[in-house]
Amino acid sequence: MLAESPPPAAAPDMARARETLERVWGHADFRGLQASVVEQVLAGRDVLAVLPTGGGKSVCYQIPAMLRPGLGLVVSPLIALMTDQVEALKQQGVRAARLDSGVSLTDRSAIWDAARAGELDLLYVSPEGLAQPHMIDRLASLPLALIAIDEAHCVSQWGHDFRPDYRDLGRLAGMFPGVPRIAVTATADARTRDDILASLRLSDAAVFVDSFDRPNLQLIAERKVNGSRARTDARVVELVGERSGKSGVVYCGSRDGCERLADQLRQTGVHAIAYHAGMAPAERDKRLERFLAEDGAVMVATIASAWGWDKPDVRFVIHADPPGSLEAYWQEIGRAGRDGEPAEGVTLYGPSDIAWALRRLDGRPMDETVKQVQVRKVRQLFAMLDGAACRPQAVRRYFGETDAKPCGQCDVCLDPPQTHDATVQAQKALAAVQRLDQRFGRGRVIDHLTGRTKDVQGWETALSTWGVGADISPNGWREVIDHLLFEGLLEEDPNEGKPLLRLGDPEAVRGVYRGERTVEVARVPLRHDPTTRSGNPRQRGAGGGRQSRAAVLETLPADVRERFEVLRAWRRD
Ligand code: ADP
Ligand code: MG
Ligand code: ZN
Repeated sequence: MLAESPPPAAAPDMARARETLERVWGHADFRGLQASVVEQVLAGRDVLAVLPTGGGKSVCYQIPAMLRPGLGLVVSPLIALMTDQVEALKQQGVRAARLDSGVSLTDRSAIWDAARAGELDLLYVSPEGLAQPHMIDRLASLPLALIAIDEAHCVSQWGHDFRPDYRDLGRLAGMFPGVPRIAVTATADARTRDDILASLRLSDAAVFVDSFDRPNLQLIAERKVNGSRARTDARVVELVGERSGKSGVVYCGSRDGCERLADQLRQTGVHAIAYHAGMAPAERDKRLERFLAEDGAVMVATIASAWGWDKPDVRFVIHADPPGSLEAYWQEIGRAGRDGEPAEGVTLYGPSDIAWALRRLDGRPMDETVKQVQVRKVRQLFAMLDGAACRPQAVRRYFGETDAKPCGQCDVCLDPPQTHDATVQAQKALAAVQRLDQRFGRGRVIDHLTGRTKDVQGWETALSTWGVGADISPNGWREVIDHLLFEGLLEEDPNEGKPLLRLGDPEAVRGVYRGERTVEVARVPLRHDPTTRSGNPRQRGAGGGRQSRAAVLETLPADVRERFEVLRAWRRD
């Protein structure tokens, strides 16, 4: 058959790329944006590609590295990740090697010899390895096909997994002029993408961002019943039990938690494998192999430990503890359903989790603006989890997909929660926390709002917020306050195990006070409790009638009185 018009210039290259994809990997064709990315890199252009987890980012640089003359240098953040990838490539007959601290001197010189002889297509290095001067010298004497930067979100402080070593990779632009560079990541919002481009000096790069849609994933978020570990563990065991025989991943915030949950799951007959960074590498490898090989195995892993491996038939991911951002969330649930078959992501979350996530950030030495962005990321995650919007739609919007439609299959789409406009309740709760000088925990604030404070002190009944929430039951208030925590309007100060409520983001709090920002409470309807409706509890206060504010203020120590005056002035603003 004759072609009617000559094929475009890049066609022969792409034909070879497809042939390589089929011969080495056995894949019939490129999918998604892979072909476009490969085409650009083959043509020598810099590229930033944001493709979903499991989307096949590796071949985007592996194939051009094999087809272009010279060595393809791959920067990858974790040794375990490199080892897996390089082993897999070798088994497929690809000439690949890695240089990391675990490689012996003899092996090193053999690798460099092969590179010089033009017998190596791919060389994996860590960013720290690349920082060593002799490494750069040696690379500079070789023809390079390309430089790939995997997990490129690690470059950015705005991303969710910043690695200081990645920051220096921008230098590569000056050291290897003319060598195309390709940065790939699964998750980067617009700001992170810009930062990657700037930091890596990819000013002229072609940018590809695939849709974050994962239509085969069904997402569910569930509030923890209370903060108790035992309840959460029991719920996870139940959730895994309902999915018996299927392969899954359970993510846990701590190593202890991993071990504990894996034990409990094993007691119910589940083939559960704990997996975390506290184990010896050989032991971890063994466990990972078992998980990858066995049907129906459930890996119970810390979030940090579970990178880079690929098991296509993971049918569910359960977060026993939530991740730290929407990026991390998307990446982690992205472990499920890589084969395209239906899979589930279930996330358990509670008020203590957001408190913990914020506290952890607080302890980190970092730039104040960066911290603010990270704090906002935590809040955006929890607002999604506790929100009443379709989950994939909310996440995709976060990543800039303005035209994302509701998925039709997440818990919100299937069973839209009744939402209530709780702006007035939010105003009352915020005012109460403020009036109480941010010195009390949730229980006391609720008692204050409902006017049920036992052991009432005169000054407290004198506050204008005392009893203003008597029309709602304590449980209703718990819902409101939890939601305010998830939206970042309130924060919980741990206070050594006796958490205190504090006002959250001042801008947002002001918005609610002014009525510019509405608060919708979802999931559990506010329960109006008829027993407290009759009569203002203020009038039922201790000692009969209510004392006048002035009289009560008189009885207060001067410093406390002063603080109240300041708060009143602030509120009048
Ligand atoms: P990630 O984007 O998460 O880095 P990988 O590069 O690890 O993804 O690829 C995930 C899986 O998808 C691998 O098993 C890979 O072989 C497979 N894959 C990659 N490209 C294709 C394709 N065009 N068709 C089918 N499977 C593919
Ligand atoms: Mg990858
Ligand atoms: Zn949905």
